[in-house]
Amino acid sequence: MIKKPIVIVEDEPDIVELMTIHLEKAGFAVKSFSGGAGFLRFIEKTEPALVVLDLMLPDIDGLEICKTLRRHETLAAVPIIMVTAKGEEMDKVLGLELGADDYMAKPFSPKELVARVKALLRRHGLLTQEPRKIEIGGMLTLDLTKYEVTLNGSRIELTSTEFKILELLSSKKGWVFSRDKILNYLWGDEKSVVDRTVDVHIRHLREKLGDAAQYIKNIRGVGYKLEE
Ligand code: CA
Repeated sequence: MIKKPIVIVEDEPDIVELMTIHLEKAGFAVKSFSGGAGFLRFIEKTEPALVVLDLMLPDIDGLEICKTLRRHETLAAVPIIMVTAKGEEMDKVLGLELGADDYMAKPFSPKELVARVKALLRRHGLLTQEPRKIEIGGMLTLDLTKYEVTLNGSRIELTSTEFKILELLSSKKGWVFSRDKILNYLWGDEKSVVDRTVDVHIRHLREKLGDAAQYIKNIRGVGYKLEE
């Protein structure tokens, strides 16, 4: 998750509360302002991860704030979701032209808001993926985001080819992958590779896997599978 706050600029307390509850439940830090002036003071010192910006504010117009942000030296790229009341279609178009990244018309579901916030953060590379891990037999762990393999908690060094083979086999435990399938996964259509190279890589992989080598099984005449 991210440390920088999602900032809500909205003058209706009920809506602020609802948005805050749902965004916090989704794991975000949230800061809110009922007007534009407070918000502009805030961003002098703190960089928001994303701004949910109401169009109609009591002091400064939401569009003005949007423009100010877009001209800002360091905050020009901060994602903005513009929020408007119903029947402000013209303003919607304007808002997008002035540089809002997304737009939502009130009333909207808080879940929809959370989904859009996440999508926008992801698009801006601000939301890191949850670590993806595969466990094998309670002793072997593949960390697919870090490309690390641990055996009973100790790191083991695999070549990228060995890692890919292990990743492929463990992606569908119990499935038999033919040598052809494995080769295709590793090298696409490169014809120069003969299918015995798979056996060589698997042999090296097994040697490194120690006790966990038992999970990789050779299916005679076909290929390999990983089974716990
Ligand atoms: Ca308003």
